Amino acid sequence: MYFDPTYLIFLAPALLLAFYAQFKVKRAYATYTRVANERGITGLQAARMILPGEGLGDVGVEGTPGELTDHYDPRTKTLRLSAGVAQQPSVAALAIVAHEIGHALQDSQGYAPLKLRGAIVPAVQVSAWIAPLLFLVGFLLNIMSLAWLGVLFFAASAVFALVTLPVELNASRRALHLLQAYQLTDGRELQGAKAVLDAAALTYVAALAQTLATLLYYVTLLGRRND
Ligand SMILES: [Zn+2]
Repeated sequence: MYFDPTYLIFLAPALLLAFYAQFKVKRAYATYTRVANERGITGLQAARMILPGEGLGDVGVEGTPGELTDHYDPRTKTLRLSAGVAQQPSVAALAIVAHEIGHALQDSQGYAPLKLRGAIVPAVQVSAWIAPLLFLVGFLLNIMSLAWLGVLFFAASAVFALVTLPVELNASRRALHLLQAYQLTDGRELQGAKAVLDAAALTYVAALAQTLATLLYYVTLLGRRND
């Protein structure tokens, strides 16, 4: 195999965006994890306030190792919080907890994009290893139907990244509503929470851009081969 410089041309903008988004999310978290919220409420305390208030008393709360690893698991209906979020009374902690509870609300209300994303997960897991394999074998042996099948499998990842976007944006929108409704943040703190959530959203945009760029590259390679 030789290195194809057009790959970089396709992928460079998406990669730059991904680096920028990672940088922004780390910086926003670092900034607002140092800003204590006025009421001194930790992420865990916020969860204990919001969950029952939203009729989500059956959602469990657990710890999870690492930083920025917080997530809601719809299969077990569990909110998993990192130590930095659960134990600190920061603006960042409130933003992240409220966002994850936003996912729990989506789950309990049967929010369609979340359901769709859950349904695509198995296909994405399979496509992650089978798509490059099919593409490579098809391309090298000049079996175009096999290579196109690889592209089709890879498209599942693109659909997943696409569906992730409304799911994440909607969870952040719900988060800002919750923070206001439960009077957890004042106006300035709400702006900080929004900065954290906006930075996180950009990482999902970057992931989508990366997937689309790779897909486009595969299609272009095959298009050239057909000529
Ligand atoms: Zn999320």
